[in-house]
Amino acid sequence: MPQGAVFHWPAGKKAAISLTFDDARSSQVDAGLPILDRFGVKATFYLSPNNIAVRQDAWRKAAAHGHEMGNHTLTHPCSANFVWSRSNALEDKTLYDLAAEMDRADEVIRDLVGVTPRTFAYPCGQKHVGRGEALASYVPLVARRFLCGRGFRDESINSPLLCDLAQVMGVDSDDHAYERLSLWIDRAMDEEGWLVLCSHDIGAFSRQAMAIEVLEELCQYCSDPDKLIWIDTVTAVGSYILKNRL
Ligand SMILES: [Zn+2]
Repeated sequence: MPQGAVFHWPAGKKAAISLTFDDARSSQVDAGLPILDRFGVKATFYLSPNNIAVRQDAWRKAAAHGHEMGNHTLTHPCSANFVWSRSNALEDKTLYDLAAEMDRADEVIRDLVGVTPRTFAYPCGQKHVGRGEALASYVPLVARRFLCGRGFRDESINSPLLCDLAQVMGVDSDDHAYERLSLWIDRAMDEEGWLVLCSHDIGAFSRQAMAIEVLEELCQYCSDPDKLIWIDTVTAVGSYILKNRL
């Protein structure tokens, strides 16, 4: 970073926030999109290709409305420590496998939704293949293909001047009261940074969900012009950072 470098968010804003939702779960289109559209908030959805067909028309419509459709691999490989991923474990994969996972997912999303993903979310936030001395990061593959790669269960706001766009920090926003998420918004404002929230279902689920009233409060607060927050997709914010931080 050049010494004394400064960064300004557009239109006098003090921080940026992106709402992201993973796995193409039906509740995202059924319960989430009407709320987002009511407040004019654009969100990023990291689609699991196998789930798209359940609501294919709704995903196409959402993309046409300006919501972002991102890549989340074809088969969602994660660590073998997750029982459900044991037969599709990152420990058993190669970098070639992960490249194919991403490229094939791009093709399916193009076919089913009609858009080409520009950003990526690491399934389970995990960024490696293999194990031990043979472990390899697949972050460089993501950097080569996408504007941004988003992590999960990270513990920081992103610094627009310093962040690695291939490893954008994503903060878990499932199963939290609005008051807890508002502390993260305050932190983003204090640091003049980029807060990326990550959720799964939307509504009354026993786990991995953002409650409807939480999404409503987030949209209402962040879209209020007096709060000086820029709420937009990962591609919108990532592109702005890339162009304006030199
Ligand atoms: Zn996922």
